Amino acid sequence: MYENLSEAIESANSIVFFGGAGVSTESGIPDFRSENGIYQARNDYGRPPEEIISLPFFKMNTDIFYDYYKKNLIYKDAQPNAAHIALAKLEAAGKLKAVVTQNIDGLHQKGGSKNVIEVHGSVLRNNCLECGAFYDVEYILDPSNCKGSIPLCRKCGGIIKPDVILYQESLDSDILTRAVEAVSTADMLIVGGTSLVVYPAAGFINYFKGGVLALINKSETQYDRKADIVIHESIGLVLGSVVG
Ligand code: ZN
Repeated sequence: MYENLSEAIESANSIVFFGGAGVSTESGIPDFRSENGIYQARNDYGRPPEEIISLPFFKMNTDIFYDYYKKNLIYKDAQPNAAHIALAKLEAAGKLKAVVTQNIDGLHQKGGSKNVIEVHGSVLRNNCLECGAFYDVEYILDPSNCKGSIPLCRKCGGIIKPDVILYQESLDSDILTRAVEAVSTADMLIVGGTSLVVYPAAGFINYFKGGVLALINKSETQYDRKADIVIHESIGLVLGSVVG
């Protein structure tokens, strides 16, 4: 199965993986935009999720933000799946140089990957907006650290914000630079679990100058015709069987 992909990985020396929500759905984390995603999920506030998890809403309605965020964006018990494990193996074998991900769940690191570039941040990191103190996800989920649903800094009492890029919040330029550099120096780019319609995902592909572009996604993307290898299948199934 997937001989073309398998041979291309064999020949490559500097693979970069770029992944989206589809990488985590097999770990039980819903895709933001798919049929079963959180955009479709009903919420108690009668507002679209894009509004609730935006920076202005965080500032104005921090309590509601956190109530929604804790229920819908944190999957503390999710475990890495075959895709995460396969990518970590490729990195350990010296084949893969970086994982660039839009996911905020930390599952690549949990699966063993070292060089993970998280363009949308991570729910596992949180900082006090006043003094910068770091807090893990356990801290912000513990009601005894919160006023209502808002986690407060143990040191200064300031409000804690997740290190997650919210809607209407700028991406981190240093992280974007690292991602572009990784993609532009790769000899093979594997794109998985993303429909490539949302910025910055679509943009990254244009920086790739290497030999083989492989797209693995359950549904078609607008880039399928540009790719050397296209597989419409689940990313975990494909990478799991190729890397083994
Ligand atoms: Zn503080």
